[in-house]
Amino acid sequence: MKDKKISPTRESLKYCFRQIKQYKRSYLPLSVLNVIIGAAAPFAELIFLPLAVDALTAEEKNVSLIITYFLIMSVLTILLQGANSIISIHLAKCEDMFLNASSMEISARCMEIDFSLTEDKHALDRIKKARDGIQWSGGTHNIANAFFTIISNGIKIAGVIAVLIINAPVLLIIIGVLLTLSAIINARKNDIDIKNFTELSGINRIFGHICWEMEDFRYGKDVRLYSAAGMMLEKTSQQIKRLSDYWENINRLKFPLNILDVIVNVLRDFGTYLYLGVLAITGKITIGTFSQMLSAGGTLHSSLQAVILGVQDIVKRSSYMYEIIRFMDYPPAMEKGDRKIEKLKSGHEIEFKNVSFSYPHTGVSVLKDVSIKLKAGEKLSVVGLNGAGKTTFIKLLCRLYDVESGEILLDGVNIREYDYDEYMKLFSVVFQDFRLLAFSAKDNILLGQDDENSDEEVDGLFEKTGILKKINSLPKGRDTMMFKQFDKEGVELSGGEQQKMAIARALYKDAPVIILDEPTAALDPVAEYEIYRQFDSLVGGKTAVYISHRLSSCKFCDNIAVFSEGTVKEYGTHDELVHKPDGIYAEMFKAQAQYYV
Ligand code: ADP
Repeated sequence: MKDKKISPTRESLKYCFRQIKQYKRSYLPLSVLNVIIGAAAPFAELIFLPLAVDALTAEEKNVSLIITYFLIMSVLTILLQGANSIISIHLAKCEDMFLNASSMEISARCMEIDFSLTEDKHALDRIKKARDGIQWSGGTHNIANAFFTIISNGIKIAGVIAVLIINAPVLLIIIGVLLTLSAIINARKNDIDIKNFTELSGINRIFGHICWEMEDFRYGKDVRLYSAAGMMLEKTSQQIKRLSDYWENINRLKFPLNILDVIVNVLRDFGTYLYLGVLAITGKITIGTFSQMLSAGGTLHSSLQAVILGVQDIVKRSSYMYEIIRFMDYPPAMEKGDRKIEKLKSGHEIEFKNVSFSYPHTGVSVLKDVSIKLKAGEKLSVVGLNGAGKTTFIKLLCRLYDVESGEILLDGVNIREYDYDEYMKLFSVVFQDFRLLAFSAKDNILLGQDDENSDEEVDGLFEKTGILKKINSLPKGRDTMMFKQFDKEGVELSGGEQQKMAIARALYKDAPVIILDEPTAALDPVAEYEIYRQFDSLVGGKTAVYISHRLSSCKFCDNIAVFSEGTVKEYGTHDELVHKPDGIYAEMFKAQAQYYV
């Protein structure tokens, strides 16, 4: 079956109507009313001023009639212009609302697209294009405005054509033909803009990203200490150069079209004067009609041009807006099932069966034929050198990526078959590169899951992870904002303190499987000892996976998996592995023990 061709204009208009329906139904009727009022406003003066002047210049002056005309004219003008400005303010509010709504829709979609896409260049370009799409299309209201411009000019055209048809019909043909040429030229220019939008958006994304890195204070220390400013500025200059090359190219492509445009305009003026001049000289029209036709021709031309440009403007803006729609429909990278997860009192069993994986577009095998079983309630410690594939193992378990071959089973069923959202609820994870949000300490733990006991629960978790004293010492306690983006009294916690918060957040989720990736990397030895000491009470009988370079922490795990070069090289208890001759774990343990007293 042949695919139905998608029309970006139709899709974008549907998007605009959906937005209007969803956010402000009154937008369309108010806009129409505004067009009518805007068109009617000059008529108060047009109608009543000549009447008032006639009454003024009449021999018998009727003072009350003169005053009445002026009064009606003034009141009508005040009413119409007042209504026009009140409605305009309301419409401007809607305009902002539509733009913000599109922006929020894109942000919301960014949070739900498959994680693997967040580092996919194609997907990132699409996000940037969607954002540019809002700006370049000008949003729903700009498309609606172009639409209303077409309607109001359409009305003008009907009136002027009626006048011209009687007195100078050939002028209609002259204007029609040359305007068609202008429209073709303009369509070509729009094509150039639309075709090159992708390239411009790509350059802007890189430019924006480097600027963001330069402005973000989290990079500030490294930038200063490694004198990276020069390199960053150089990279920005390269993008500015690319941008200027881009615009130069666009100008070069458009130059002949601009010249053609000028020629067509000159021809139109020449044709109009010639035709009307001949009519006047041959006595077919009077000089008064000559000037009247000249002005009617001008109005017809400008109105027709406004209609044509309006239509082309809608097509062009729609093609930019279509980028928002395309991003909203971005195809998922992962297979997702709808199977419900059975709630098992005993916990869940997890199994990796011959799992291999390489990150998208890299072709480098990061995990090779990994098979490992994790019984319900088991505590597994994953160790290995940097780059061995430990975090990747966790990412696959959490379905941030899909395996390339082999399968991961939960209670004997491939995890792809489960409902994705339900599956995600199974895990409380603290990644090495966790991030706290610029909200209050409490909101960072609850993430919107408040209830009346939340404060006590949050304090209990802060106590367990050893951060309660610090939080209580903050200006607004647990309501103190993290970081200073939104509040000058916000706090900048140390790496270790942030890590304690992240652990508290994971514990609050209270999921059946706990995963901690280097959970104590930023903690001082006392805090680290406390976390280890309390580990059993923190994790309870839950299944836990625990990545750590501190091998002494492996002692309280049921099993240890030693990753090396993407495979599980050793597997067993601490006692089994530590005594294995020439074993990797035994070697690592010995090396580390030397430096710990
Ligand atoms: P570990 O946790 O054992 O230190 P990782 O699982 O983080 O190791 O990384 C294993 C390998 O995968 C490394 O060589 C790393 O460079 C690569 N890698 C990690 N993340 C990505 C990614 N998002 N894209 C491409 N390669 C990655």
